Amino acid sequence: MIEICEVGPRDGLQNECKIVTTDKKVKLIEKLIDAGIRTLEVVSFVNPKVVPQMSDAEDVLERLPRLEGIRYGGLVLSRSGLERAQKTSVDYLHVAMTTSDAFNLKNAKRTVKESTEELTKVIREGVEAGKGVSGILGTAFGCPYEGEVPIERILESAESFLSAGCHELTLADTTGMANPAQVTKTVKAFQKKFGKDLNLGLHFHNTRGLGLANTLSGYEAGIQRFDSSIAGLGGCPFAPKAVGNVCTEDMVNMFEGMGINTNTNLTKLIETAKWMEDYMDRPLDGMIMKAGIAQTAQ
Ligand code: ZN
Repeated sequence: MIEICEVGPRDGLQNECKIVTTDKKVKLIEKLIDAGIRTLEVVSFVNPKVVPQMSDAEDVLERLPRLEGIRYGGLVLSRSGLERAQKTSVDYLHVAMTTSDAFNLKNAKRTVKESTEELTKVIREGVEAGKGVSGILGTAFGCPYEGEVPIERILESAESFLSAGCHELTLADTTGMANPAQVTKTVKAFQKKFGKDLNLGLHFHNTRGLGLANTLSGYEAGIQRFDSSIAGLGGCPFAPKAVGNVCTEDMVNMFEGMGINTNTNLTKLIETAKWMEDYMDRPLDGMIMKAGIAQTAQ
């Protein structure tokens, strides 16, 4: 079975120009849950001045329904993010850093080593406070400034995060540079070092059209947890870093068509994607919501 982590309300909306109201965000999350999604990244505890779209993290969490089996995650990039997250009911801290110095310096104004030092403390404190902690390693398939990021460096960052107590790890293709062969190679290197029991997930962007190909490659290598974004949110053509996530309902359509269970309702996901598209005032990237479900896939 596939476990989907829906990141539309965070990664998707963060890269959209239109500011979405708290009300709309809460409704979107409720609709996704109604469609069968169980794990969601709903907020980000970043500086509201830097990312205004995410400034209502506390309000969103306060208004979300507390339901059995539903897991809400929030992105944490620093100690100040942890302090905010600890005052909320968020279930999982998604502690993220990139594995390339050039990218991390631009993004977090720290080297990878400096970020690792700070974030391993954040992870330990999060675990002690009773939160679940998911470690996210960005630029794991390439960096737009440095090019290839050596696998040894990614494994080293993973080791630091795991020994600090992370419950799971996700490798993120931050700017959509991965290809399917590289995904296989990377997953195999992780399995070799950490064993097949490691809870490893993959996070792809469709920047260069390879999102679903990379997802399938990861699945064939043994991965069952994937991040995706409803309607492919996050690719606003006017945003400076326009990068859409793999589209949730397109991914569900692929897996269900192959007979692989996702425990979601594709019709409801498509309805939610269209409902969001109406609101965003621009055509969103999802394909299946335009084409409809193929007869053979029903
Ligand atoms: Zn992302």
